Amino acid sequence: MCGVFGVHGHEEAAKITYLGLHALQHRGQESAGIVASNGERLASLRKMGLVQSGFSSTDLVELAGSLSMGHVRYSTAGGSHLRNAQPFAVDYQGGSVAVAHNGNLTNHEALRRELEAGGSIFQSGSDTEVIVHLIARSRASSLEGRVVDALSRIDGAYSLLVMDEERLVAVRDPRGLRPLCLGVLRPRPAEARVDASPAYVVASESVAFELIGADLLRELDPGEMLVIDARGLTSSRPLPASAQRSCIFEHVYFARPDSVLEGASVYEVRKRLGRRVIEEHPVPGASSSDTVVIPVPDSGLPAAIGLAHHAGLPFEMGLIRSHYVGRTFIEPSQSIRHLGVKLKLSPNRGALDGKRVIVVDDSIVRGTTSRKLVGMLRSAGAREVHVRISSPPTTWPCFYGIDTPTRSELIAASHDVEEIRRYLQADSLGYLSLDGLLEAVREASGGKGRGSEDGGDRHCHACFSGVYPVPIAEAASSARHLRVLGE
Ligand code: AMP
Ligand code: SF4
Repeated sequence: MCGVFGVHGHEEAAKITYLGLHALQHRGQESAGIVASNGERLASLRKMGLVQSGFSSTDLVELAGSLSMGHVRYSTAGGSHLRNAQPFAVDYQGGSVAVAHNGNLTNHEALRRELEAGGSIFQSGSDTEVIVHLIARSRASSLEGRVVDALSRIDGAYSLLVMDEERLVAVRDPRGLRPLCLGVLRPRPAEARVDASPAYVVASESVAFELIGADLLRELDPGEMLVIDARGLTSSRPLPASAQRSCIFEHVYFARPDSVLEGASVYEVRKRLGRRVIEEHPVPGASSSDTVVIPVPDSGLPAAIGLAHHAGLPFEMGLIRSHYVGRTFIEPSQSIRHLGVKLKLSPNRGALDGKRVIVVDDSIVRGTTSRKLVGMLRSAGAREVHVRISSPPTTWPCFYGIDTPTRSELIAASHDVEEIRRYLQADSLGYLSLDGLLEAVREASGGKGRGSEDGGDRHCHACFSGVYPVPIAEAASSARHLRVLGE
């Protein structure tokens, strides 16, 4: 998973991009990059690690100009190396171009083979580089034309930013798998000159606008291409329309709770998910005198709040999170992962001793975290431990840009709920149903997205249902290939 941010028409564009990326940091912590244009040439910097530790104020001064874009990366295709960090910026016969991509192309393997056969030399293991080559090889005269040529060849999930010296192009794939939104940054009254015009900003999530003081205008439509240049905004739909399939897991886990997705507050959606999971799976006999609801911080927080409110049960911080370790999920080996949970979360005996505990998280992937936590809660005095998960069992991997392990590592792919409960050693385990999840998201977005032209829901839910909206034959084989490439 990754985050993208772009701004056109602001004299401190690179600084604005830095701040935007900072707000999108949860979408990728492996590397960060910023490209800026002063109208004549592109300057670019890519660093490993967090935005805050990677870029100094001197770096930002070197990234001069009023047009800029950036990327934070969480590797799905290609390994964790600086050469895979984005944006990719290159010079070619048509000038300079930079590309930043959130998503995963499902046909990049075949395209890469074809391009290599034609003499292209690749510098990274990333699927995004295919887009750079396709843009550079296009015979179209304008940047927009080159981008459209490239789009006509690629398939899969992409929220894409492309820029040259003068313009920023933002595109969302025809299924709208990954999010992308548009905002406007208006000059502050004290700074406003008569001729001052607003700057347009684009970002993976609206939370990036909050930090820089921009207003969210709207989300890009699936399949929409926006060109932002000195004339303002131009919107078009250059590709054949497809049924919308926005990622439901953004609502469950990935997006920040203070973002707005599909017109709904992610925080409100997650509270609804908590409410629904306890409606579907009540804990018999739970009463406010002997039961506490606790979140797995931070991922289970809003759902636990929604669950506790709805059930009229006390909400407690039964697990305290250390903010000085990264996410445990991305650590390499099983042994370290076990240790990681303990490093990250510690049980708060004061809130747990003698209590019946309902512990809420957003999802179970391998089961490592939940198993460890149930044990920790019991050793801290919990009398009973009831696990509630605010999404359905994760039974399939994602091929559209979210980092998930292979199917064999997903505990719910090979075990039913009762088997998982036994593995976790929980007194009970309840997952939200897929219908419950889809309905809660629909309700929160005011019914927006109910049904679609082809009669289905407008969301991708493949990791829960195995129904993949983009054919995955190549995606599956390329995921294996990339795991090898990724060292
Ligand atoms: P596990 O221990 O493998 O079951 O991981 C479960 C934890 O990973 C849950 O707390 C989730 O919030 C979190 N999680 C779920 N999906 C992802 C993902 N794609 N990347 C990082 N963390 C995730
Ligand atoms: Fe999102 Fe799951 Fe679909 Fe991937 S498979 S895009 S995580 S809903």
